[in-house]
Amino acid sequence: MTDDPFTRWQLTPVINVSGTMTRIGASRVRPDVRACVDRILTSFVDMDELQSRAGAVIARVTGAEAGCIASCSAAAMTQTVAACLTGADLARIEALPCVAGERRVLLPMGHMVNYGAPIDQAIRLAGAEVVPVGTAAACETWHLADALAGGAAAAMYVVSHHTVRENELPMDVFIDLCRDHRVPVIVDMAAEYDLTRPIELGAAAVIHSGHKFLSGVTSAIVAGSSDLIRATYLQHRGIGRTMKAGKESVVGAMAALELWEKRDHEAARKTEEARVAFWMRELADMPGVRIASHADWTGNPITRVRITIAPRTAGFHAWELAARLAGRTPSIVVRDDLVERQELYLDPCNLTDTEAALVAAAIREEADRFRTRGDGCRQGWSDVKRSREAAILGWSGNRDADP
Ligand SMILES: *Cc1c(COP(=O)(O)O)cnc(C)c1O
Repeated sequence: MTDDPFTRWQLTPVINVSGTMTRIGASRVRPDVRACVDRILTSFVDMDELQSRAGAVIARVTGAEAGCIASCSAAAMTQTVAACLTGADLARIEALPCVAGERRVLLPMGHMVNYGAPIDQAIRLAGAEVVPVGTAAACETWHLADALAGGAAAAMYVVSHHTVRENELPMDVFIDLCRDHRVPVIVDMAAEYDLTRPIELGAAAVIHSGHKFLSGVTSAIVAGSSDLIRATYLQHRGIGRTMKAGKESVVGAMAALELWEKRDHEAARKTEEARVAFWMRELADMPGVRIASHADWTGNPITRVRITIAPRTAGFHAWELAARLAGRTPSIVVRDDLVERQELYLDPCNLTDTEAALVAAAIREEADRFRTRGDGCRQGWSDVKRSREAAILGWSGNRDADP
């Protein structure tokens, strides 16, 4: 029997041009990380000791006092919030999600994102009450000051392409105000390359996914103050048990973090920029298709290719092209969170040169096909919105499920 899951269980191969998306397996795990994980999988280890060694690695890399590994960033948010509600009190830890005392957790309204699940739920799971701060499109100092005056166990700050970008409180202003009220700030930077800034600014904890830019296994790195990290780790004796990080997650995250420390980031960036330049050449001069290079929204050192569709000239909508590409074999998954604006993005981070060439050829081919067959511009944005729920609910784990 083959040990290739794709042939053994008839899986559709995927070319990832979207960056690091959990729904398609997040990242390519690096060989050094795989070797470390392989070694621990067949061994026993004291988990307290392992997590304590992880803390030392995290502290060194991030500049924080301490650290620990969680099973993913969503779990890390629940557990750091829980830590702010219980401290290192084991009775309180076992009592969650019933909370004795203050349970308000502040979250700017513009940071109330959905990364595949709603962030406020990750907070509520601990037993906390989410208090939105500001309005959907703006957060001002007086909004935060007013919320802090009502008391809070913690405040959450999110850095992500998902958040509202304009008129939000800068991280330093947010942390300073919270510290004036002695309220610990937890920063969700799941997909951000900067491992040190929130700690420098005085955040109590900062969370990074191990399986995104770090190219590790599914996991999260939690860095922060000694007391909060201890209380976070101790949650494994309570609600953290339902989101347990196994030995493979802890070792995988540690190895990924150390690899990140010594990786040649300049060389990686050069490779990615060459890929972007290649796509810019290959996709030039297509009717109704405009190409531009685009710097990352939150300042990560990534340049992507932005493809803007003029539907009348091109003969198709951006979401129709994305759907055609995803429907091919291998399935090509582009960044499609802004398709409503007729924009698609190609991310150079997670693919090989061969795959990059395949992507360019496939985009030309699908665009030509729309033009020659005239079967584009059939599906409006409202149709897409209407059909989304059915697509989600269409999943089945039945005996006779596809193929
Ligand atoms: C991906 C992401 C998450 C969830 O991360 P997981 O590690 O997959 O749970 C949370 N917040 C933000 C901003 C993200 O980008």
